Amino acid sequence: MIFNLGSINADYFYSLPHLPGPGETLAATGMKSGLGGKGANQSVAIARAGAEVCHIGAVGNDGQWLVDRMTAAGVDTRHIHLSRHPTAHAIVMIDGQGENQIVIFPGANHDQNRDVVEKALANGQRGDWLLLQNETSLQVEAAMLAAGKGMNVAYSAAPFHADAVSSLLPFLSLLILNEIEARQLSQALGREVLHLPVANVLMTKGAKGADWHDTRLMQTTSVPAFPVTAVDTTGAGDTFTGYAVAGISTGLSPQTALRRAAAAAAISVTRLGTAEAIPTLAEVQAFLD
Ligand code: ADP
Repeated sequence: MIFNLGSINADYFYSLPHLPGPGETLAATGMKSGLGGKGANQSVAIARAGAEVCHIGAVGNDGQWLVDRMTAAGVDTRHIHLSRHPTAHAIVMIDGQGENQIVIFPGANHDQNRDVVEKALANGQRGDWLLLQNETSLQVEAAMLAAGKGMNVAYSAAPFHADAVSSLLPFLSLLILNEIEARQLSQALGREVLHLPVANVLMTKGAKGADWHDTRLMQTTSVPAFPVTAVDTTGAGDTFTGYAVAGISTGLSPQTALRRAAAAAAISVTRLGTAEAIPTLAEVQAFLD
């Protein structure tokens, strides 16, 4: 069982002839909306991977449609609380060349409720997992609670902030980062990520694949990415993380879990959108066959 304290965003994509300059008013030529936020994307990926996931989060009274989409994807949404703040959203402006500009309003994501977190984690057992990203409040409180119950805590260190990683490190069994975040972290802490006091480090490397490091045994399992024609890489990391954590939590070896995750992420980059682009386990298995 995986508990995921994570962000829930409404993503609004606007197609524009060019990115607006200061003072400019510009009419969009197209608009699309969808479910997003690293937390929600990862919960959807876990559910599509076939593992049980309980999402802990918050939306405003304009966010029920996002919760409905998560429920439809198979996520347990009973611990998503109604905040008095508006639902978080991302305004993504895209020009004809695919260049973008993004504004994020964190809203309800920063208004997590301690009672809700405690109530959700009261159902957690030793060996269950808590997954976190850096887009909500109460990360350290939740990690402390889960670690105290003997649960495994995984942290996807994005959006990257060295202080956020440092305050979570004592509770982590798994740290997940991409290559850029790994470089930033080792610069900030003055040591290699493989020498951090955390049992496992999962590093994703875009089209170069991903590495699972067991820092106690000093063993690395590397999995290549699948060659595909990428049309939209947003959400590749979240798809990979969700599938990897789902696999590990259900007892798959790092090799098998990461291979599935790489296939799921490869499929997702061939599709537009974020949560909608995440494939089901059946699609992943067909791809691997
Ligand atoms: P993030 O989106 O967090 O920066 P990465 O770019 O490292 O994460 O991508 C995560 C995973 O998604 C990679 O390990 C890889 O398996 C897959 N992936 C990303 N980009 C591509 C691509 N262009 N082709 C195939 N797989 C990709």
